[in-house]
Amino acid sequence: MFSRRNAIQSLAIASAASFSLATRAEQSCAVFNPTAQDATSPDAAWKLLQDGNDRFVEGRTLNCDLMKQVKDTTAKQSPFAVVVGCIDSRVPPELVFDQRIGDIFAARIAGNFVNTDILGSLEFATQLAGAKLVVVLGHTDCGAIKGAADNAQLGNLTSLLANIRPSLEKLNYKGVASSKDKALVQKLADQNAKDAVSKILSKSEVIRNLADSGKVKVVAAMHDLGTGKISWFS
Ligand SMILES: [Zn+2]
Repeated sequence: MFSRRNAIQSLAIASAASFSLATRAEQSCAVFNPTAQDATSPDAAWKLLQDGNDRFVEGRTLNCDLMKQVKDTTAKQSPFAVVVGCIDSRVPPELVFDQRIGDIFAARIAGNFVNTDILGSLEFATQLAGAKLVVVLGHTDCGAIKGAADNAQLGNLTSLLANIRPSLEKLNYKGVASSKDKALVQKLADQNAKDAVSKILSKSEVIRNLADSGKVKVVAAMHDLGTGKISWFS
């Protein structure tokens, strides 16, 4: 029989559980400070992004007080990762990794390749600002990748797409490359993301040294526009 005493006990257990959940949510909403950043290894930073994408995909994104985070990061930012992503409106790194104010740096450029300016941004994010993980985030059905496959010519876009063409040359394909070949477009997106990782490590002595000493990891990932799911190459 369900006595009043049992009811009170149940209420106590339920309220303890909800308190514990609230406490955990508050902790998840706490901004990264230098202490938390220092305590985060490259692998732990990677896990934070993996868990964030899981929450995004499963509809469990955190609901944090962003203005509190604005106030808590006004004096200093201590992000744990930096993402190189495409400008595509469907792949905002903060949303797809379920991160908020002060959590991650994001460098966005059509086709998520790296050049001198992006490398400089990554060196700032890691060596000077302490980020532990560099992620090159490509995505499926990318317009820039398709443009590179088609060798599209348009104003300044022509020279932008030239940054992606070397990845196309590495792929073994027959005939003339075309964005109509969906498999080729995805292969090129994969190759382009992996090549960006290689380029970061070969062209940035700063990041190579950080990677060699285990202070930073550089990884590539692919976002599926249809599912929101991010898969990792490394
Ligand atoms: Zn894109």
